[in-house]
Amino acid sequence: MLSIQDLHVYYGGIHALKGISFEVPEGKIVTLIGANGAGKSTTLRSIAGLVKKAKGSISYKGQRIDSLPPEDIVKAGIVLSPEGRRIFPHLTVLENLMLGAYTRNDKEGIEKDLEWVYELFPRLKERTWQKGGTLSGGEQQMLALGRALMSRPDVVMLDEPSLGLAPLLVKEVFEIIEAINAQGKTVLLVEQNAFAALKVAHYAYVLEVGKIVLEGPGQELLENEKVKEAYLGG
Ligand code: ATP
Repeated sequence: MLSIQDLHVYYGGIHALKGISFEVPEGKIVTLIGANGAGKSTTLRSIAGLVKKAKGSISYKGQRIDSLPPEDIVKAGIVLSPEGRRIFPHLTVLENLMLGAYTRNDKEGIEKDLEWVYELFPRLKERTWQKGGTLSGGEQQMLALGRALMSRPDVVMLDEPSLGLAPLLVKEVFEIIEAINAQGKTVLLVEQNAFAALKVAHYAYVLEVGKIVLEGPGQELLENEKVKEAYLGG
């Protein structure tokens, strides 16, 4: 289990996270939803060790991880698939994927996982030798996700995986998230698409300007009047 307690983060004078606490149980899909600027990405980046906390703790399987460097957090089994398309445009699809395995040296395992990623994303397989930068937006999103999986994580953190995708692809991405979870991976999902996120999530937290204001099972929040009004278009 991943456990976040009283996490505070500042960017200069901006108090971006104002003491948030939440848990991500093993094997579950947990989602954080909220408006722009609520602090969703900051939360994921803090867990990944990319943003320094001012106060609070982050523990994984009972061990503190909040002062580890990012690569040790990946080694511990937690990976972030970042928002946008932070892939390497001049490297091929295969090279991008292999970069995800940079902390590993189990050659056979890496090959097996590459096969698994290609099974999940047949489009990437067809485009093995294509340069990342020439992929469509949706394909780049899949590549970012595939690269994250190549570290063989136990916990996958996804920052807005459906951002900017056409409806059919959005559906595909959420199916893939469920497939990844069905393989035993724990998922921490950040989404603007609250409807789709709540539908797949076992449990959800609503973030408003750096604070958790509401939580509950995904299905329950889908029916919550406040959530409907603020995040599901009434
Ligand atoms: P979005 O859905 O728009 O991505 P978010 O919920 O992920 O929003 P964050 O990106 O975590 O929100 O931002 C939280 C707050 O921190 C915002 O007010 C944002 O402007 C601020 N912020 C984020 N990154 C930085 C940074 N590098 N420097 C200064 N302020 C930042």
